[in-house]
Amino acid sequence: MPERSVKQKIAVFGGGQLGRMLGSEGVPLDFDVRFMDPLPDACAQRTGPLIVSAYDSSEGLDRLLANRDVATYEFENVPLSVFDEAEKRGVSVYPPRRALEIAQDRLREKQFARELGFQTASFAAIDHAGEAEAASSVTGFPAILKTRRNGYDGKGQIRVENLQELQEAAFAMGTDLILESVVPFVREWSIVSVRGKDERGREDIRHYPLIENRHKDRILRVSRANRAPQRPQAEKIAQLIAERMLRELDYVGVFTVELFELADGTILVNEIAPRVHNSAHWTINASATSQFANHLRAICGWPLGPTGANGYVAMINLIGSWVNPPMLISGLGDAWFHFYGKEARKGRKVGHITVCSQTYEGLEAAADKLVRYCKAHKLGSIESPGSLESA
Ligand code: AMP
Repeated sequence: MPERSVKQKIAVFGGGQLGRMLGSEGVPLDFDVRFMDPLPDACAQRTGPLIVSAYDSSEGLDRLLANRDVATYEFENVPLSVFDEAEKRGVSVYPPRRALEIAQDRLREKQFARELGFQTASFAAIDHAGEAEAASSVTGFPAILKTRRNGYDGKGQIRVENLQELQEAAFAMGTDLILESVVPFVREWSIVSVRGKDERGREDIRHYPLIENRHKDRILRVSRANRAPQRPQAEKIAQLIAERMLRELDYVGVFTVELFELADGTILVNEIAPRVHNSAHWTINASATSQFANHLRAICGWPLGPTGANGYVAMINLIGSWVNPPMLISGLGDAWFHFYGKEARKGRKVGHITVCSQTYEGLEAAADKLVRYCKAHKLGSIESPGSLESA
């Protein structure tokens, strides 16, 4: 009999760009990746078959999970019931249920970080507008009122300056809210890590280099990662936080912790994401093993790959604007382009571009050009080139 590679068959809940990149990185490994999404135009279908279905449809779940070795999810708002449904059909879902349960609720997320001894913004739950005043006595003003669930890219968040604004916002937003103090951070980081287990159950934890993130209107615009991190102290703390959480959750797959750094170097946990993350898209082009490949390897019980960066790296999101790919490519040349095949809409991520250099100066020049070009062509209303300069 001729020998064949061991094709892993994977089900993915969600069919957005993260799914698309998982599917694409599955090809070199000869993995067979299948997606489920309620939207018929979900962009992951370019890289694997798409089951168009609600996440709670028994028939849809049958089709997605038939003949699968393992399942995963590419976004956080997938209902927890999929764990039971998959189990009934003999398929395990990774990352584990508890990680998703915590990440789906901003209140639980902050409590989790605190329980493990890490700092967060001060916070209080608000179940109805009548609790607003008591909550503000915990956080002070200014503060940010957020929905506990279903928020992403700044949706379901409003900054409030005083009690009247808070009460009005709480009334408008309804129940299940959390109020957070505004953190006067000097820098935002994310640590993207992966935990796998070998056949004897021994863990392997690896971290990508610490990533610095710039947001505008609460949407990620630019991420940068360096081979020689400028903030070794922050990186050490970030790794410690990630490792503690990974072990506590008995985690399998890629895991992200978003962090704030204060002027005195204190690191606060902002949120966790039990999945591949936008800030590490650069790993596709500038790391020996992308976050997507490592996620697939981890959930299939395969050995993990190296997580270093092949130089100084920046990634910029293309947001909300129509993109003319040939024009973009001719204007920028030395970069990696990723277009998600999504219709442009305000605030929607439609692609990203990665640049990499062997020198810090080289990266700054390339990133500066990239930002200026994107700004001139209104590709994502990003910040001025100077925003890429590190402090
Ligand atoms: P989130 O969806 O909670 O991660 O919020 C998106 C972005 O909004 C963060 O990356 C920060 O830039 C900003 N943000 C969220 N919460 C806070 C906070 N408590 N203090 C300051 N900035 C915040």
